[in-house]
Amino acid sequence: MINIDTPLLEVKGIGPNFLAKLEKLRILTIKDLLWHFPFRYEDFADVKKIADLKINEQATISGVIQKVRVQRTWKKKMFIVEISVVDDSGSISAVWFNQRHLAAIFKAGKSVNLAGKIVSRNNKIYFSNPVYEFTNALINTDSSQIDADNVSGLKHTGRLVPIYPETRGITSKAIRYLIKPVLDNFGKLDDFLPGSVLKKFNFPEINKALYDIHFPDKLKDAQIAKRRFAFEDLFLLQLINLRQRLSLAKQKAFALKIDDKILNNLLRQLPFELTSSQQKSLAEIIESLRKSQPMNRLLQGDVGSGKTIVAALIAIMAAGFDKQSVFMAPTEVLARQHYETLKKFFPSFNKGLGILISSEAKVFYGDDLEQTLKKTDFLEKISSGELRIIIGTHSLISTSGRSPEGRQKSVKFKDLAFVVIDEQHRFGVKQRAQLVKGSKTIPHFLSMSATPIPRTLTLTVFGDLDLSIIDELPRNRKPVITKIVAPENRDKAYAFIRGQVKKGRQVFVICPRIEKPVNNELDTNIWAKDSWSDVKAVEEEYDKLSKKVFPDLKVGMLHGRLKAKEKEKIMREFKNGETDILVSTSVVEVGVDISNATIMMIEGAERFGLAQLYQFRGRVGRSERQSFCFLFTESVGETVRKRMESLLEAKNGFELAEKDLEIRGPGEILGESQTGLPDLAMKAIQNPDLVKASREAAEEISKEDPAFENHPVLKKHLEFFQKEVHLE
Ligand code: ADP
Ligand code: MG
Repeated sequence: MINIDTPLLEVKGIGPNFLAKLEKLRILTIKDLLWHFPFRYEDFADVKKIADLKINEQATISGVIQKVRVQRTWKKKMFIVEISVVDDSGSISAVWFNQRHLAAIFKAGKSVNLAGKIVSRNNKIYFSNPVYEFTNALINTDSSQIDADNVSGLKHTGRLVPIYPETRGITSKAIRYLIKPVLDNFGKLDDFLPGSVLKKFNFPEINKALYDIHFPDKLKDAQIAKRRFAFEDLFLLQLINLRQRLSLAKQKAFALKIDDKILNNLLRQLPFELTSSQQKSLAEIIESLRKSQPMNRLLQGDVGSGKTIVAALIAIMAAGFDKQSVFMAPTEVLARQHYETLKKFFPSFNKGLGILISSEAKVFYGDDLEQTLKKTDFLEKISSGELRIIIGTHSLISTSGRSPEGRQKSVKFKDLAFVVIDEQHRFGVKQRAQLVKGSKTIPHFLSMSATPIPRTLTLTVFGDLDLSIIDELPRNRKPVITKIVAPENRDKAYAFIRGQVKKGRQVFVICPRIEKPVNNELDTNIWAKDSWSDVKAVEEEYDKLSKKVFPDLKVGMLHGRLKAKEKEKIMREFKNGETDILVSTSVVEVGVDISNATIMMIEGAERFGLAQLYQFRGRVGRSERQSFCFLFTESVGETVRKRMESLLEAKNGFELAEKDLEIRGPGEILGESQTGLPDLAMKAIQNPDLVKASREAAEEISKEDPAFENHPVLKKHLEFFQKEVHLE
């Protein structure tokens, strides 16, 4: 008997050629096969009388073969197989081109169904390349043998016929041949969705759902089945989120009871007033920190919205409790920027502020007192507690043990209470615990991200995080003037750019990403490696700009295949104004504050998501100077134009992210590998109702049976799913 885990290799009757093709579709087991869902259905359900057939319609007939004829055209050396079929109303012929083997399959006297399009020639109508199916096949259910001619029920004709995603050499028909007998013969599956859930949402149980999604009686049945499968994945995802939340809630953190007076004192020292969304986010964070449960929060806000200062205020106040904080930035340039920010805004902070990157270890004790240290001494000061705020890159506490800094000993904190991670979304419970091995408490976590993620997506993929949002920019900013540049206006744009550079301004040039990122990281993460073809694109653009277009200006180049050291150097030179124009892939770092850069030029703009374009643009417009964003497009179709124009109109990144979600789906926003989500779930995220339903169902089950003792099938499935999507 076939079961769900049987490899197709062990199923008799599937030839090696066919197996190889299935492998290309990543179909290796019975499960893969059954979960290879059709993406649409053709309606051949209505069996017609031959006499009633009309030109150009799609139809199914049922009859008996009368004659079989094989012809060969001279010119094209093409084989034509023709049969004529009769029913009790009349006769019609059917023709297949270049399928010589059919001549041996069709026999006069056999009963057959034909489904396909009716065409006409010389006033005669006939079927052209129809789907055929013999209808007097025997039924054989007592072996695992799949025999194309020995299967029950109709698969290709006389019904709703599933159409599958195909690859070269595998037709939907072949897949149907395979799936139908499997569905009829394999052992029934236990449903992992609890009965109460099935009942509540009116979902079919798993075996019926599988049948309905492949061979539905009615289109409606297929839709309901599809909905069930989409729900499944969302449901599991929500259960995992809840689990993460629960296990974190069991952990202890130091409750930082922050005093309003201290906060107001600090705020008074700042040269500006916080925007109201900064104030709101700050209040939300402070509220969480008062609890002895670790905070796990995502602070989202556009580039330049002022996230750093919010986190910095918390770190300063935590130091007042003699607690340590750590800031982790994705790059050294950003780490240095954070360090400078803290020094600038809190010049009298005297409880030890330090930065540790490959090139230096420095400590600031307030009032211009700064000291360069050896790395080992620096680490010493962390473990003794003398340093209260430590700034570094993500590798500072990298759990893998290998870091770009080389043989650096792993950091040991004396009393770590607050961790800030810039531009990295999620930190697992395990990683968290590892950070403070041996300590009784674990730190509060704040992730900061400039990637605007739509609400529905956050709820599903980041449902274990609390969310704070900064959705306004400080008031002193001028809106960036954004222009879509058609190919014929390229020279004009170049001339304008030259004029700006002559006035002392700087320019970013972004080249489109050609291949998807190779690792599990966000597009916007500088550590994401560029593919070689991306590098080539950047090099070509660099050549063009530095040799032909702007030979008189200083052009630099940045991509994700350069060594970290080189990247840092190139960024530093740009920041110091030694380069005028920086050509880069889309991985160019997100948070760098270069107020002198006032032009953002984006090549192949139509290839980016709206939210991404929005982010690129956010890298300019960081001062009172007027900034510009030029979108160069290769194709200017109506849809491209519309998308670009919504960028011109949008008020903030979230609005655009929602639009992106509608237009391009969640994979394009987060990168498929980032979410690890199965296809259906990704699509389902676009359906807020289903997300909400899955969340409610997950909450109910978790409350009722938190250890899944009464739901063993669900428990097993959940563990499997968790591994599969790497959400541990
Ligand atoms: P991001 O959210 O991208 O990390 P930053 O924290 O780097 O943004 O802030 C961008 C710039 O805006 C910094 O120079 C910062 O000092 C400044 N800034 C932050 N908040 C305000 C504010 N409320 N008013 C004026 N300037 C601010
Ligand atoms: Mg930032």
